[in-house]
Amino acid sequence: MHETTTCPYCGVGCGVVASVEEGRLNGVEGDRDHPANYGRLCVKGSALHETLGHQGRLTRPRIEGREVDWNEALDTIADRLGEVRMRHGGAAIAGYLSGQLLTEDYYIANKFFKGFIGTPHLDTNSRLCMASAVAGYKRALGADAVPCCYEDLEKAELVVLSGSNLAWNHPVLFQRLRTAKSRNPLMRVVVIDPRVTDTCELADLYLPIAPGSDIALFNGLLAYMAARGRLDRDFIAHHTEGFEAALAAARDEAADIATAARRCEVDAERLETFYYWFASQLHVVTLYSQGVNQSSSGTDRVNAIINCHLAGGSIGLPGAGPFSITGQPNAMGGREVGGLANQLAAHMDYHTPGAIDRVARFWSVPGLTPTLPEAPGHKALALVEAIERGEIRALWIMATNPLVSLPDANRVRRALHKCPLVIVSDCMADSDTLGCADIVLPASGWSEKDGTVTNSERRISRQRGLLPAPGEARHDWWIICEVARRMGFAAAFDYDGAHRIFDEHARLSGFENGDGPGETFRLFDISALAGMDRAAYDALAPVQWPVNAASPRGTARLFESGRFMTDSGRARLVAVRSRAAIQQPEGEARLLLNSGRIRDQWHTMNRTARAARLMHHRSEPFIEVHPADAARYGVHDGGLARLVNARGDYLGRVRVTTSQRRGELFVPIHWNDQFSTRARASALVAAVCDPLSGQPESKQARVALAPLPLP
Ligand code: SF4
Repeated sequence: MHETTTCPYCGVGCGVVASVEEGRLNGVEGDRDHPANYGRLCVKGSALHETLGHQGRLTRPRIEGREVDWNEALDTIADRLGEVRMRHGGAAIAGYLSGQLLTEDYYIANKFFKGFIGTPHLDTNSRLCMASAVAGYKRALGADAVPCCYEDLEKAELVVLSGSNLAWNHPVLFQRLRTAKSRNPLMRVVVIDPRVTDTCELADLYLPIAPGSDIALFNGLLAYMAARGRLDRDFIAHHTEGFEAALAAARDEAADIATAARRCEVDAERLETFYYWFASQLHVVTLYSQGVNQSSSGTDRVNAIINCHLAGGSIGLPGAGPFSITGQPNAMGGREVGGLANQLAAHMDYHTPGAIDRVARFWSVPGLTPTLPEAPGHKALALVEAIERGEIRALWIMATNPLVSLPDANRVRRALHKCPLVIVSDCMADSDTLGCADIVLPASGWSEKDGTVTNSERRISRQRGLLPAPGEARHDWWIICEVARRMGFAAAFDYDGAHRIFDEHARLSGFENGDGPGETFRLFDISALAGMDRAAYDALAPVQWPVNAASPRGTARLFESGRFMTDSGRARLVAVRSRAAIQQPEGEARLLLNSGRIRDQWHTMNRTARAARLMHHRSEPFIEVHPADAARYGVHDGGLARLVNARGDYLGRVRVTTSQRRGELFVPIHWNDQFSTRARASALVAAVCDPLSGQPESKQARVALAPLPLP
């Protein structure tokens, strides 16, 4: 039997055809009909069937290490959450979710925590990956709205890859870009990254900018466009606001190429080439990812990029636009349901006019009225601080491993140990975070559960349940509904399948969504997908939102009319200036530490490390070091070394390489206490973040490097 589903290993969201025989998934291939990949898969996707299996799975609920049945686990959770809520209020309870949950799980979690527990403190690990992109889009476009689609990468004449190792982190998009470039000899690709990566293979021009100089780079570009008469004056006049202030800030920072080149530490001639290419071309896509987002000035970096697109009019057209690519398979689905601490529900913020009342009425059922919070809750890092202060007394973590992924991970461990009640729902038994859990719940995983995910181009696709879940593992939405039922909210959590939840999600997106008197038009609207029965839901083909009466077949590209989601309908250019990173050298900890994914692993490796062939690419934690630094600090290629600062340490194999800039290091994010002691990169990163987006400054830790003598 062959079934279609969606790959869970990155935000490209490739369609997969899975071969299932006698309760086993025997193999996978790319779905030729899926518009994200048209049959392609990367090495992780093609090994999907090798990363499954019951070994290492959580199969029974546990309370304080003791296996219990579901009734006892659910009753205990309901009792203890109820007690915390009664004694300390709903705001003493928090949830921490994941971009790997399905949209249906996310929707139910958001409804439970915000609607019925009454806490605003629900955040997600997507905070670590795309929060700055979201904040930047909102500031500029008036909504968290990715304007582009993957096809735009193929239609562009210039593709700028900024802070994105596309070749390793979104490999199928890289393949699509490579094919498009081979077919279009006029297409140019520019790679902007402090580190030489495999993505540079496609680069016509590579700019190894100094870390943190992105704003200077794009401010310099805006100043160049103005100086050379390369602005789209008509677009600026009719479709934007804030241009003069943004240009003044840009000129203030980088009025000429020599200044911009000095600030970015790149060759002025190369920089001018980039500026000339960008300023001469309407069909430009700038694709950006964690190298831009994971910064204490991430939102400003995003706006510096968007400013240039608005000034040149390169948005809302085929082959044009500022394009944020998400890391996780369903970071976008979390944004749709409102599963971030600064959001309420259905893609709406707390300050969206009428939102609280609208959601409260929608979620009301006879005899039961939601108790929605009225202001945003704690974002991820603030959530940890609130636990430390004793304000959060119960935390439910779903499908994520914050002890490995959050900055200052050792501090997170101490905070979780201090929290009176920690519940963890997960598929895998080898998550470091389980060591802090009072109650552990076995969740179903990829290939076992039904639902939807939304990829980086706003395309909603089905993930399908192909195999039975092992032991007593259950779907996340079911677990939450059962707790809700025991807490007295049964009437609001009565679903007989994922299709019912999706239907409610689709109806809420269109609920009172219009531009009539007293109504606020909202961009996220999938109301045309409401009303599907189970069969229609099962047959749902990939579709890009909005999907509504005006666009019943979905929407490839946003803002083609030149009207944006701000009150004025005009996009905003934002005046931005570079700021120094918050993390600065401390004592011997002077080297700048960058971190990221490697090609063949996913997050904390508890699935991808099962496939032997995925371990061949990089089999152990490593530290990439420039030759001059290797000589200076006495470390050798192939030897072991230690990184250390006041927060933690990291052991890894040295790889001496000129792909690193001098004074800078790179380590992978994947290894953790399950695979290798003391190789958690996040333990070295200070818990500081962008003040607007709350996204941690993950790529600018400071560390000392020393050789590790073998015993
Ligand atoms: Fe899966 Fe991403 Fe690879 Fe596609 S590119 S197969 S979604 S890991």
